[in-house]
Amino acid sequence: MRIIFLSTSVGPLGSGIGGGVELTLRTLASGLAQRGHEVTVVAPRGSVLALVSTERIRLLEVDGALHVPSQTLDRSSAPVVPENSVLVNMWKTVTQLAARERHDVVLNFAYDAHPFLRADECSVPTAHLVSMGSLSDEMDRAVTSAVRAAPGCVAMHSRAQADSFGAEVSAATTIVASGVNLDAYDFVAEPSNDLALVARISREKGIVDAFEVAEQSGRLLRVFGVMEDEAAWREAAARYPRARVEHLGFLPTNELQSSLGQCAALIMVHHWVEAFGNVAIEALACGVPVITYARGGPAEIVRDGVTVFVVPADQPSGVVEALAKIGSIDRARCRAEAQERFSSTAFVQRVEDWLRRQLV
Ligand code: UDP
Repeated sequence: MRIIFLSTSVGPLGSGIGGGVELTLRTLASGLAQRGHEVTVVAPRGSVLALVSTERIRLLEVDGALHVPSQTLDRSSAPVVPENSVLVNMWKTVTQLAARERHDVVLNFAYDAHPFLRADECSVPTAHLVSMGSLSDEMDRAVTSAVRAAPGCVAMHSRAQADSFGAEVSAATTIVASGVNLDAYDFVAEPSNDLALVARISREKGIVDAFEVAEQSGRLLRVFGVMEDEAAWREAAARYPRARVEHLGFLPTNELQSSLGQCAALIMVHHWVEAFGNVAIEALACGVPVITYARGGPAEIVRDGVTVFVVPADQPSGVVEALAKIGSIDRARCRAEAQERFSSTAFVQRVEDWLRRQLV
């Protein structure tokens, strides 16, 4: 197949602003190219793919104003389309490419109504891989109208994510889960006592709960991720002054995995319906057990008591209690679970099968 990827419009690839969708896009570009497909990635100016270069992957950078991430807006806010929108410009590039060169399908990663509502402007089918749960009324309407117009055109990462859009969308959605390239993650058998939080620093990722866990457990919390909301960080630090927390910034995958692997556990204390949580499978790939709130994708993808502990949502004390048992988790089992269930090979195959179904 010849596939056009439409990237997220909130930041250039490689910046971390796009969150898990950046890793997902890279994993799929390289996996599909390895399987003989040709991929053209249309992404905001400044994007870096950081992939082994191959003739089968091409990056086209597009100018324009970045979009405001939906998770920072109210559910009912009117859509914010900036002047000279990078998304409008990228969509134009996509439709022109499809008209000019032979392509089979467009794979949209942007969490924004525009490509969902305008798929009929493109001469080839558009498939949408939705990266987050329901966050805005406008996006709910756009996803619903897309599945009505072309049943099967939407895929998501977990059933919990699909359900957040309502029964009609959920029933029409293909669940592809996620996956990572295991070769990029080293197994660490003997960790330190430290905890890891791998997330954009934001309220929805539960930064305040993470500080509480650090304070209550007395363990050092190492935080990896883009500083999206400094006020949220300062408030959390002021509320839990005895918490030992170190912010290491947004690291490239190779550096992230080598530090993450040294940690005793990854904590996931999110306040929103996490679509999947790529970071959970990245941690398992390094042999790091996960303690997660019972909310959204992570609770669905991991096996309680075997590689993770699932604790009631919004209860940092539950995370601290689970930490006391963390030594009972076999780290080699965590790595094996990532290999068996979340390899990039299996993920790429699921996405390829779904894309092929768009062509008929
Ligand atoms: N990440 C990274 N370096 C960091 C912190 C995070 O590369 O220092 C990546 C991480 O590998 C993951 C993504 O950021 O792929 C976060 O994705 P996730 O699906 O967990 O959450 P999202 O931000 O999309 O809600």
